[in-house]
Amino acid sequence: AKYEGKNRYRFFEKSMNEDLAQKMLLQNSLRNALERNEFVLYYQPEVDTFSKSIYGFEALIRWISPEHGFVSPLKFIHILEETGMIVEVGKWVFKNACEFARKINIDEANRIIVSINVSPIQLMHNDFVEDVKDIIASTEISPELIGFEITETALMESFAENIDKLYKLRALGVMIILDDFGTGYSSLNYLRKMPIDILKIDKSFVDDLNSEEGKPLAESIVALAHSIGLKVVAEGVETEDQFNILQKYKCDLIQGYLISKPVPQEETLKLF
Ligand code: C2E
Ligand code: CA
Ligand code: CA
Ligand code: CA
Repeated sequence: AKYEGKNRYRFFEKSMNEDLAQKMLLQNSLRNALERNEFVLYYQPEVDTFSKSIYGFEALIRWISPEHGFVSPLKFIHILEETGMIVEVGKWVFKNACEFARKINIDEANRIIVSINVSPIQLMHNDFVEDVKDIIASTEISPELIGFEITETALMESFAENIDKLYKLRALGVMIILDDFGTGYSSLNYLRKMPIDILKIDKSFVDDLNSEEGKPLAESIVALAHSIGLKVVAEGVETEDQFNILQKYKCDLIQGYLISKPVPQEETLKLF
């Protein structure tokens, strides 16, 4: 390796410390965030590719901190996970999403699904299934209106145990969505053993639709999902071009900025 001078090393060290300091600041503020009502849920619609009607909404957490401003979940979810706080915050998310699902499901003939993201730490928690049951009971939501988004990587650790929990959840009537499909390590063999209803194609495959090499992959994922009886959602759809290709591949549902960014509950409620 080339000698790159002392300053470089110092610079690296300094930025590491800054990262750590920043993380600790966030961590401290996060401890009070829930009780201070600093979290809100935004909702992003998923529409039927063919009828263009709304199929459901994904709940996405937002943190508006008096100290740090608007903080992206990419910056704080992992801190909540490392500290275990995600368990309490996750329950809050689920409860609020259930209440929202009740509000938007005014017409029984037209079901709208609300899905929430579940962290591996939540899933692995001993009380997870019980907590879900309790919240379903207390909010009086029909479980058929709820979806749980779980990533492949979340399942891989203690696979058997997690699969068992998913079966229990599904027995309650909720839907299981495999999120970010294609980015993890799961083999087709695993896919067969997972109790899932919907497969969500990761945005990276949608981005690759712009290149010729990327197209066959997305097309194959849709066909694969259909062959085992799953619905497919494409996430992160931003252009008409991508939409048209996905429609050609018969991808069932579309989510992305092309349709709408995630928006606050009040704005979503105006649609109903
Ligand atoms: P995710 O579950 O893969 O969610 C999709 C992310 O892509 C969201 O980012 C969404 O706002 C963004 N997105 C949607 N459509 C487009 C698009 O067309 N273009 C682009 N560039 N982005 C798009 P967000 O809201 O910042 O969330 C990031 C991640 O944080 C989520 O990724 C999820 O893993 C996690 N997350 C968010 N809310 C929760 C939550 O309530 N609980 C847990 N455990 N994780 C959450
Ligand atoms: Ca998701
Ligand atoms: Ca996703
Ligand atoms: Ca993704």
